[in-house]
Amino acid sequence: RQPSLDDSGLWREQALIAGQWRDSDAGGRCEVRNPASGALLGTVPDMGAAETCQAIDAAHAAFPAWAATTAKQRAQVLRRMHDLMMQHQHDLAVLMTAEQGKPLAEALGEVAYSASYFEWFGEQAKRMDGDTIPGHAGDKRLLTLRQPVGVVAAITPWNFPSAMLGRKLGPALAAGCTVVCKPALQTPFSALALGVIGERAGLPPGVLNIVTGADAPAIGAEMTSNPKVRKLGFTGSTAVGKQLMAQCATDLKRLSLELGGNAPFIVFDDADLDAAVAGAIASKFRNSGQTCVCANRLFVQAGVHDAFAEKLVAAVRALRVGDGLLDDTDQGPLIDAKALAKVEAHIADALAKGARIAIGGHRHALGGTFFEPTVLLDAGDDMLLAHEETFGPVAPLLRFETEDEVLRRANATPFGLAAYFYTRDLARSWRVSEALQAGMVGINTGLISTEVAPFGGVKQSGVGREGSKYGLDDYTELKYVCVGGV
Ligand code: ADP
Repeated sequence: RQPSLDDSGLWREQALIAGQWRDSDAGGRCEVRNPASGALLGTVPDMGAAETCQAIDAAHAAFPAWAATTAKQRAQVLRRMHDLMMQHQHDLAVLMTAEQGKPLAEALGEVAYSASYFEWFGEQAKRMDGDTIPGHAGDKRLLTLRQPVGVVAAITPWNFPSAMLGRKLGPALAAGCTVVCKPALQTPFSALALGVIGERAGLPPGVLNIVTGADAPAIGAEMTSNPKVRKLGFTGSTAVGKQLMAQCATDLKRLSLELGGNAPFIVFDDADLDAAVAGAIASKFRNSGQTCVCANRLFVQAGVHDAFAEKLVAAVRALRVGDGLLDDTDQGPLIDAKALAKVEAHIADALAKGARIAIGGHRHALGGTFFEPTVLLDAGDDMLLAHEETFGPVAPLLRFETEDEVLRRANATPFGLAAYFYTRDLARSWRVSEALQAGMVGINTGLISTEVAPFGGVKQSGVGREGSKYGLDDYTELKYVCVGGV
């Protein structure tokens, strides 16, 4: 039932605590299914608060020694993690497609992307510099030190089962923090495989712990109430992020939150339409539309609206839906029945409010959670899909007339993660990128993610930045030291 891997040691059905691969205290297990077939893939331990506490104790015990290693030692381990991930890229991708559904080409890309965070932050570990500051008194000398925040708890979603962990583990381990992570129950195997990679790369026992279980609120409650945890890194829905932030308020834990988005994708009259269509396909239909930076609202200026719609529909017609492990698949299944129901509800709401289907709009003939790549015309700001992330393969086109109008409409959302626009006008590029209320802006591109740039949102899309030279800051404390009596 499990996917066939060249290195079967990467497949684990146990959790990792204190260097031990183990089951839950009570022996309960959770099933994990392949979203393309519904078939049982495997099971993982059903752990709760007790095992989470044990994992935190292990991370806490391992912290002093890991924090005391040199940056070069940590960098070497992280480099080995990167290299091992790339060596096993195909196995890790097959495993990911089996549990997550995305096409194998996308899974291969995600493994490389995830690995890049270990490489990047291993290099950054050596640049955890402090400052010397010209003193305010003749007999004093001032300096700053950067120190790891301590035990980090990481909660990650199912849409990027490896990369969302890589983004947190890379900087945390580089800074000298130890980690307890909880992957989404739909996709635990990519996370557990990273545990194997970490072990093989030389992470000491307890530095990386992985807890699996069905009761996410219980695991999250232990992570947020246990005083040994000093920081929480979370990627997931805004609702859960807010709840975790409130829980972390009790003892003021540090927080990084990467939450939902509602990305506008704006096509101006002067855009290169073919490039805009290619960007829209990449941004909207990648991972079946299940990414937090997916274009959610496609605003198209009146002068090019019909031409853009025609080209987009032609491109969408060419997308091949199927099992992600098959060579010619462009779009896999949705993750589960709940995701399918949300897509259907958004389309039904849009149709009731006057939208029209240009292509798609229904469950796919393959059954299960497969859905047809869809383009909707005449979408409006009053529709559900303009307010919430659809998280599915639905591209709603909203017509607009002027730059001022589209900026007002694009910003009329409590979210602010990614935004995209297509134009050939240099002055407009500046104006619009400055005016968009988003943490990340793509101009003439639908793909912006890289480990070397800061990823994160404004407004209700989150707190903090992952990746880039800034990404280590979220996992370090800046300590000021004042030397007197000089
Ligand atoms: P999605 O709807 O995309 O699954 P969630 O925010 O529900 O997004 O899930 C993201 C991650 O947060 C998953 O690992 C999930 O198990 C976890 N999670 C969900 N609810 C809670 C909670 N109350 N406390 C801690 N973690 C949670």
